[in-house]
Amino acid sequence: MPISILIPSPLRRYVGGVKSVDVEAGNVAAAMAELAKMSPELRKQLFDESSKVRSFVSLYLGNSNVRDLGPTLDAVGVKDGDVLTILPAIAGGAEPKLSREEVLRYSRHLIMPEITLEGQKRLKAAKVLCIGAGGLGSPLSLYLAAAGVGTIGMVDYDTVDLTNLQRQILYSASDVGRPKLEAAKERLTQLNPEIEVVTHPMHLASWNVMDVVKDYDVIADGSDNFPTRYLVNDACVLSNKPNVFASIFRFEGQISVFDARRGPCYRCIFPEPPPPGLVPTCAEGGVLGVTPGVIGSLQALEVLKLILGLGDPLIGRLLLFDTLDLKFRELPARKNPGCAVCGTAPTVTAPIDYEEFCQIRSHEPDSDANGVAAISVEDFHRRRGAGEPFHLLDVREPHEYGIVSIPGSVLLPLSQLPARLHELDSALTYTIHCHKGPRASQASQLMRKAGFRRLQLLTGGVDAWAERVDTSLPRY
Ligand SMILES: [Zn+2]
Repeated sequence: MPISILIPSPLRRYVGGVKSVDVEAGNVAAAMAELAKMSPELRKQLFDESSKVRSFVSLYLGNSNVRDLGPTLDAVGVKDGDVLTILPAIAGGAEPKLSREEVLRYSRHLIMPEITLEGQKRLKAAKVLCIGAGGLGSPLSLYLAAAGVGTIGMVDYDTVDLTNLQRQILYSASDVGRPKLEAAKERLTQLNPEIEVVTHPMHLASWNVMDVVKDYDVIADGSDNFPTRYLVNDACVLSNKPNVFASIFRFEGQISVFDARRGPCYRCIFPEPPPPGLVPTCAEGGVLGVTPGVIGSLQALEVLKLILGLGDPLIGRLLLFDTLDLKFRELPARKNPGCAVCGTAPTVTAPIDYEEFCQIRSHEPDSDANGVAAISVEDFHRRRGAGEPFHLLDVREPHEYGIVSIPGSVLLPLSQLPARLHELDSALTYTIHCHKGPRASQASQLMRKAGFRRLQLLTGGVDAWAERVDTSLPRY
């Protein structure tokens, strides 16, 4: 029996911002169980540890309190078209308080009956992750910070470049050369010292994405490459999070809200990426600076609407923007039952290798100038994590090894290598690294001359590892 469950505004952020959810169930207990399947966070709000509906959650079937209709929830049957209302007791205890200064800062929100103090507290409690701190991430994060979103996470690995300033309004000329996230955090905190900006200076990859997204309520994807698009999409579907998606190219923009619980995901619309090279990036094809400004602002708007449970989110709709004609077009976006990640028989049940899926390999060279094979720290980490055996040789000096090292590495300093080559087995494949690369190259040449044929360099060495794989490690 399809019945509707009306979701109260404080809980809407757990179901993609919608006011009601339709479920198939024969009784009230089954209907609540179906609803809880939509989001683990919502389950925690509604059910206690023994899977009983929490005592402060009142349920109404039509106009009757469910308690008056039967002794237990499964004793209360439902029929086609019934409406179940969740009425949570509003306690407010766990909600953040607003200081005098915050009340003043957000007063233009607070006086709107659609937002009020309640909505502003919800913004303060919200955690939003921005993927990319570039053309889209700039207006997006600035507006989220200004609006009072309490926690803003940002993922980016780049440094600010002079060519960025034409559109990436988070940065100033004095930031050129600085890590983007360092400059972004400074700027956003200057704009609003009441919020927390969490930086994730890393390449988002299959092995770390689930861990990064798990702490956020809404993900906003403003990335600039296909592997990241699919990576973020799949992570959002697999962890039941809404993905406010936006992309831009030259004079055009696209935006939608993907929430697989309520509509299609990115893969439903684009099951496979275009062949590499067919669609140039902004760096190759160019972009008019204001275009990401418009689209990134719309992205911020959709994020705020989801948090506040306001209006009609862009779920199931793909909005296209053409700056030259100044026209918006809206296309319906439907869920594909055959979708590899959110369909009825998904084949993607954990993050996959997205560079392989998009037929793109890492930009790093796969061999050094002497033709010795090379592997990126991400690839190495992923493949070793998947059980591939590696013999990792660290050719730095012992005092450097004491500062920081890659787990599982064996120390054999380059200075001692000629005298200690007999300790190594030429039948094995060695992955060699130093601090940043040059000594590992030298070591590989020495070993080659001694008859070692199966050698591989770890590109960027322990420094790349500490910068991109385990950011808790020190760099020197
Ligand atoms: Zn899908």
